Amino acid sequence: MARNLEPKCKQCRREGEKLFLKGVKCYSDKCAIERRNYPPGQHGQKKGRLSDYGVQLREKQKIRRIYGILEKQFRHIYRTADRSRGITGNNLLQILECRLDNVTYLMGFGASRAEARQIVRHDCILVNGKRVNIPAYSVKMGDVIEVAAKAKNHLRIKSALEVANSRNFPSWLDINVKEMKGIYKNYPDRADLPSTINESLIVELYSK
Ligand code: SF4
Repeated sequence: MARNLEPKCKQCRREGEKLFLKGVKCYSDKCAIERRNYPPGQHGQKKGRLSDYGVQLREKQKIRRIYGILEKQFRHIYRTADRSRGITGNNLLQILECRLDNVTYLMGFGASRAEARQIVRHDCILVNGKRVNIPAYSVKMGDVIEVAAKAKNHLRIKSALEVANSRNFPSWLDINVKEMKGIYKNYPDRADLPSTINESLIVELYSK
């Protein structure tokens, strides 16, 4: 399966903000954004003003990187969001938020979305008691997501859950840490999602 192999910290530096792609390191002072918050490359420190198109493009790249989606797949998701009822930008975020790899990450079963995706691919996650190994699987309201019995002793899942438990879980999820299980109670409101994301710029970009 194709995936983005560009170094993760470089991706954050390109976007000029923390995208939390590496798990625990992102919360430490080893984070590259804390140390070198300028774009990578020889001309990274040169200041320049982005055009409107540049701003829209950067926003699209940022969201793709946060959720770990490749360009072609992202366009497909956008088309689905555009065809659905309601506001396209909200639909787009909802599709991304409901992906099984994202929900697995938010429930604390993976330290990052990339790790959560690998856990899903390795048959370690059950949805309503059935094994699902498709990271793009769309989780519905009321679905029960849990770590499969064979994976409950995996150290990386345990330590990711411990770390996630020490922070707060999102309010739209109901997590039982002991049983390594969670319920997707409801879809997040726009206000629950990061205000640094500006989905309307992506709609403007793709509407051209
Ligand atoms: Fe981004 Fe995490 Fe690297 Fe910091 S440590 S630059 S947040 S991936």
